[in-house]
Amino acid sequence: MPAELIDGNAIARSIREEITAEVATLVARGIKPGLAVVLVGEDPASEVYVRNKGRACHEAGMHSVTINMPATTSQDELLAQVKQLNEDKAIHGILVQMPLPKHLDADIVIRSILPEKDVDGFHPVNVGKNLIGDRDGFVPCTPAGVQEMLARSGTVTKGKECVIVGRSNIVGKPMMALMVQQGSNANATVTVCHSATRDLKEHTLRAEILIVAAGKPGMVTGDMVKEGAVVIDVGINRIADPTAKNGYRLVGDVDFEGGRARASKITPVPGGVGPMTIAMLLKNTVRAAEQSAAR
Ligand code: NDP
Repeated sequence: MPAELIDGNAIARSIREEITAEVATLVARGIKPGLAVVLVGEDPASEVYVRNKGRACHEAGMHSVTINMPATTSQDELLAQVKQLNEDKAIHGILVQMPLPKHLDADIVIRSILPEKDVDGFHPVNVGKNLIGDRDGFVPCTPAGVQEMLARSGTVTKGKECVIVGRSNIVGKPMMALMVQQGSNANATVTVCHSATRDLKEHTLRAEILIVAAGKPGMVTGDMVKEGAVVIDVGINRIADPTAKNGYRLVGDVDFEGGRARASKITPVPGGVGPMTIAMLLKNTVRAAEQSAAR
């Protein structure tokens, strides 16, 4: 029987409804959660992401600010902008859209954001909190979204073999830190694979939960998926498709049909992990606002 689909659009929609209700409660207490997104340069994909984030904030009743800075912005100018947002009481979450133009140092910029406003969860303080299982910090939105999808699809994680393909700082490593913790929706035995892994298939075939974030279209084929596994495909890749109106289509890192034939549950691309990322960004921002009110 083909795998059940884990519908990221539906899960993200219900999370966003919950957030809208939480925002209304906060607003009634005089706190309007505010997110500032800083975009440097004119990367078309980044412009779309930033626009979508702003729209999602408005739909949830949140305060949203987008700051567009030219591609020629200097490091000092960007740091000054972040400092101003750090000091702005109406802003609870700050996100600097990546990638930055090459002359800017992303690490320095990320470290300049106050950890309590770092709703992307990339500041070393939040990275450390995630690793030690301190839930006061902010977890990067994509792995947080994957964990939420596992929970809301009724996937038991405790004691399971969880294999993650990819070790980036934004997906693979924080995903590992989440899944290995004691506590609910985690407590798995985690393996992290990367490009130096000797026999990838040997690992993926052990996975009862397989999370793939490699950025390689269709890299995980059906024969690499264990019968009955839960497969979460984080990959979002554009491939040429002359039959499509815009000449391309989006695919994941997992060969969907091959994976679906073996898995018990699988996320589609698009409509899987993608929509979860913005939902988790809103969730982090609302929590940042609550925490700031409690200080
Ligand atoms: P990176 O390129 O930063 O990392 C890819 C990781 O995959 C690396 O650790 C790399 O290993 C590993 N890898 C690559 N090829 C292989 C291979 N053949 N075998 C084993 N491991 C391999 O990518 P990201 O983590 O940023 O993103 C991964 C994918 O997820 C992309 O398609 C991206 O578009 C998507 N994504 C989706 C998001 C969403 O909202 N849904 C958000 C973020 C990303 P090594 O470290 O050795 O190079």
